[in-house]
Amino acid sequence: VRTVWPLLAALADLVLPSSCAGCDGGGAPGTGLGWSPLCPVCAAVLGGAARRVWPDPCPAGLPPVWAIAAYAGPVRAALLAHKEDGRLALAAPLGGAVARAASAGAPLGPLLLVPVPSARAAVRRRGHDSTRRLAVTAAARLRSQGQVARQLPALRQARGVADQAGLGAAERTRNVTGALTVSERLRVQAQRHQVVLVDDVMTTGATLREAARALRVAGVAVAGAAVVAATERRVPSGAIRLPDAPNAR
Ligand SMILES: [Zn+2]
Repeated sequence: VRTVWPLLAALADLVLPSSCAGCDGGGAPGTGLGWSPLCPVCAAVLGGAARRVWPDPCPAGLPPVWAIAAYAGPVRAALLAHKEDGRLALAAPLGGAVARAASAGAPLGPLLLVPVPSARAAVRRRGHDSTRRLAVTAAARLRSQGQVARQLPALRQARGVADQAGLGAAERTRNVTGALTVSERLRVQAQRHQVVLVDDVMTTGATLREAARALRVAGVAVAGAAVVAATERRVPSGAIRLPDAPNAR
């Protein structure tokens, strides 16, 4: 059932005139050939330019992060509908957002998009890997625009932690810190590409930092990270500390 559900939801997206996934009926999605899972207003929020964003506090070792929008309103709704409800048609606008963020992070290319892996249990429960889907869609979008781009799911969740005894220094670091491991293929591909990490949302930056660290340990430099949205974190004064993130409505 868990693998069938997203397919059914995608079919429903295609077959049924549904409400906008961003504002839940506040706007009407297009119809026929112009069909979109988002109304024009919500599509415009996701269609903005990429901005450089920083979490507060900013963890050391975080690569430059580029985002399209603040994690709020229609953007948050669309990301959750794609990830949790399997509204797969949203991969098009969300992947397009990732593509623009990745281009901003590594404008020279060629680009190698590396999705941050989700926990396996979460992927099983949802029936799909939403972040990887965004990376696949973003790479296809970039290619359609004439850029050289591909995606490689090179990061894996480490399965358990080994005994530290008998491990070398680099292996110890990887073992303890290492929520993530890197596939051997990445080392080869990274020599010909600019590597950009892909995630749906940046909150504290801890996940992206860990991903970048895992790549550095494997000898792979990270040019940047591309996310659809970044959370706006409030400091005690009440000031919003992501001035580059556009306000979502
Ligand atoms: Zn809408």
